Amino acid sequence: MIAIIGAGPVGCYAASLLADNFEVKVFEEHSSVGLPIQCTGIVTQEIFRFVPKKNNFVINKASDVRIFSPNNKYIKLKLKKPDLIIDRKKFDNYFYNQAKKKGVNFVFNHKFISTRGCDVLIKNLKSKKIKKFKFSHLIGADGPLSSVAKNTGLYNKRKFFIGLQAIIKRKNNNIIDFYPVKQGFAWAVPEDKNTLRIGVASKTNPKEYFNKLLKKYKGKIIVKQAGLIPVFNPWTTFSKENIFLVGDAAGFVKATTAGGLIPGLRSAEILAHSLNHNLSYEAGIYLHLFPNLWLNLKMRRVMDSFTEKDWNQLIRELNNKESKKVLQSVNRDKLFQLLLSIAANNPRMMKYGLRHVRSLF
Ligand SMILES: Cc1cc2nc3c(=O)[nH]c(=O)nc-3n(C[C@H](O)[C@H](O)[C@H](O)COP(=O)(O)OP(=O)(O)OC[C@H]3O[C@@H](n4cnc5c(N)ncnc54)[C@H](O)[C@@H]3O)c2cc1C
Repeated sequence: MIAIIGAGPVGCYAASLLADNFEVKVFEEHSSVGLPIQCTGIVTQEIFRFVPKKNNFVINKASDVRIFSPNNKYIKLKLKKPDLIIDRKKFDNYFYNQAKKKGVNFVFNHKFISTRGCDVLIKNLKSKKIKKFKFSHLIGADGPLSSVAKNTGLYNKRKFFIGLQAIIKRKNNNIIDFYPVKQGFAWAVPEDKNTLRIGVASKTNPKEYFNKLLKKYKGKIIVKQAGLIPVFNPWTTFSKENIFLVGDAAGFVKATTAGGLIPGLRSAEILAHSLNHNLSYEAGIYLHLFPNLWLNLKMRRVMDSFTEKDWNQLIRELNNKESKKVLQSVNRDKLFQLLLSIAANNPRMMKYGLRHVRSLF
C-alpha cells in the first residue's frame, strides 16, 4: 500500500496518478479537503497542463498588472495571457474527486505521527487511538512543516516566507498589483469586482507592511489568513529509500512569486511517473523541476539585493512603450525574468545594486 500523508492538491493529485497501479491510502488530519485556506490562488495558464479548461474553480481572470516601486510609481502592463484566480476549496476538491473516482481510500481526521520500520503510526484524532499501517511507499504531501520530512530526516534547514493575507470588500478595476518588499513582495489580487485578496510574504516580519497595505486598500475585512511558504533550497534532500516528499513538503515553491501550486503538481506527476515506471524520482526532479526553481531562486536573490532606490530606478527606466511591449509578451512567471534581463542590458541601470542582475544572465 502507498501511504500519502496530506490531502492537499499535491497529495490528491499524486494519489490519482498512482491509483491505476497501486493501492493508495491518503491520511488527512482535517475532516475535509480544502480548508483552512491559506493561499491567494493566483496561477498562470500553465495550470491547464493539470486541469481541464472547463472547471468550476477559476473564478476570475485578470490581464492588467501594475508593478509598484517604493516611491509609489508603477508600470502598468497588459499580459497577453491573463492570470487566473481560483477558488482554492473547489480547486483542492477537484483533485480529491479525481482521486476518489480512481478508487483512492481517504482517511480523514487521521494525523501522521511517525514511521516505525515499514509501518506508519497514525493517530485517529477523534478516538485518540494510534494505529499502525504497513506501507510499501510513503509520500509526504503534508505541507511546509512536513512531519514526514521531520520524522525521516528529510527536513533539512528550512527557511520560510511568512505570508499574511486579508480578503477585503472593495470595488476594483480587476488589476493585479505587485509590490517589491524587503526580502519578499506584496500583492492585491482581484477575486471579483467587489473583492480583493491583499497580502505580504516576507522572510522578515511582514506585519508592518501588511498594516500599510490595509491602510492603502481601505475596505471591510472579511477574513485574515496567515501561512508559511518554504523558500526553495536546491541542496535539500527530498527522498530516501521508499520515502518521498512532494509539493510544499519538499519546498518546491517558486522563490520569486511564492507560487507553489504548479511546481507542486509537477512534482506529483514526476513522482507518479517514477513509481509507475520504476525510475528515479530524484533524477526526474533534477531534470524537470530544478532548473526553473533554481532560476527563480537566483532571481529572488537579485531582487533581495535591490535597494528601494534600485526599484525606483528600475520601474522608472522600464516605463516606456518599448520595454512594456516586450514585458507584456510573456506570462507573469516569465515577467520577472524578462524585467531583470532588460535591466541587465541597459547600461544606465548598472548603477546601484542593479549590477547584480548581470550574474543572472
Ligand atoms: C499566504 C499564501 C499565499 C499563497 N498564494 C499562492 C498563490 O497565489 N499561488 C500559488 O501557486 N501558491 C500560493 N501559495 C502556496 C500554496 O498555497 C502551496 O504551495 C500549496 O498549498 C501546496 O500544496 P500541498 O498540497 O503541497 O500542501 P498543502 O496545501 O499545505 O496541503 C498539505 C495537507 O497536509 C495535511 N497535513 C499536514 N500535516 C499532516 C499530518 N501530520 N497528518 C495528516 N495530514 C497532514 C494538511 O492538513 C493539508 O491538508 C500561497 C501560500 C500562502 C501561505
